[in-house]
Amino acid sequence: MRFKSLSDLKRQKPKEVTLAILPQEISLTHYAKEKAFKISELVRQIHDESYEWYGFTLADKENPDLITDIGLPRNAQNLQEYVNIGPEGIAEYYDALSEDTIINGWIHSHGALHYRHFSHTDEENQATVLDFVTARLRKAVAKKEIPIQDLQLLVKDEFAEKELEKGSVSLITDAVVSEAILMETIYGGFSYSIVIGDEGWHEQEIHYQERGVISGRTHVSMKSAEVMLIDNGRSLTQADIIALGKEVEEKIQPNTNPPTEIIERM
Ligand SMILES: [Zn+2]
Repeated sequence: MRFKSLSDLKRQKPKEVTLAILPQEISLTHYAKEKAFKISELVRQIHDESYEWYGFTLADKENPDLITDIGLPRNAQNLQEYVNIGPEGIAEYYDALSEDTIINGWIHSHGALHYRHFSHTDEENQATVLDFVTARLRKAVAKKEIPIQDLQLLVKDEFAEKELEKGSVSLITDAVVSEAILMETIYGGFSYSIVIGDEGWHEQEIHYQERGVISGRTHVSMKSAEVMLIDNGRSLTQADIIALGKEVEEKIQPNTNPPTEIIERM
């Protein structure tokens, strides 16, 4: 047996080529930001008190990184300190959207609470939204080598079935090859998460999910992100505010008497 040098024994890093970068900060139009805080204001005006509410951040299919609007679904229940999203709720809202509009995250309000960061319940919601969004909005972000130990190279029509018992992976080619590297596409997606408060504060995170098309290896990560405000010429008009007031009246359903076990512990 021939001993390899130490450097040969060191496992080589799998080859990886970056194909696309997912957003590292959140771009948001002035209109969308204004609308989010206006919803909180209308909730206080219409329902006499501040309640948590949630909505989806919306974008044009052509430009999925930029939040251009806030979509307000019918909130299942609005408490002063708890909001919960289910996958069916997102699907229902998504299906009602126009074809060129997509959901790229979610936004919720902590109302008048002084709790200025994401809570444990928010984390669960984030995972739900991330799964939903990335299933529909993913792109090839990298090509990455799948390191294979004991790769068995076979030539088409020239091997016996018994030979398939050997090796961890069998690669069958139409000509003799002595070496092969397998690189899989990594598909990645993201979802934005924004929490706001009545006093005007906001916090953001971007959640990422990446998945290897062959290995199925899934990697989830997240980062705190800054907001980059974009002016696309649209602003909230008086007519918009009147329409939004009607939506708030219809879709926000205060429940001031929740069972204690579902109140988010803070
Ligand atoms: Zn929250």
